[in-house]
Amino acid sequence: MSFIHLIQNKCPKCHKGQVFRAKSLFTFRPTAMQNECSQCHHNFSKEPGFYWGAMYVSYGLATAEMALVYLCCIALGTNALDFINLVVCIAVVLILFPFNFRMARLLWLYLFTNVIES
Ligand SMILES: [Zn+2]
Repeated sequence: MSFIHLIQNKCPKCHKGQVFRAKSLFTFRPTAMQNECSQCHHNFSKEPGFYWGAMYVSYGLATAEMALVYLCCIALGTNALDFINLVVCIAVVLILFPFNFRMARLLWLYLFTNVIES
């Protein structure tokens, strides 16, 4: 698994085609996944419900982001139990939702591409 190709939204098999129609993972516009790679015709939809497992990845990403933001709030001098910490953490996760959605699906696809097809 190549982290550079993952961040660049590239196909896990040939590293040339795009997985999502939008090139950037950081765009706020809704975007759909391609059905297959435009270069190697690798199928991105393995089976019905394949991407349900990406919810666990998304949960892990959101948890890590909230922990990081919480630690930053504490480092900036807020009290550990301040309500503002919770508000900032939730706001950051909501802002990063489009990134988390795409990154979770890409991680799930990269995780199982070599396992299923080898
Ligand atoms: Zn490909």
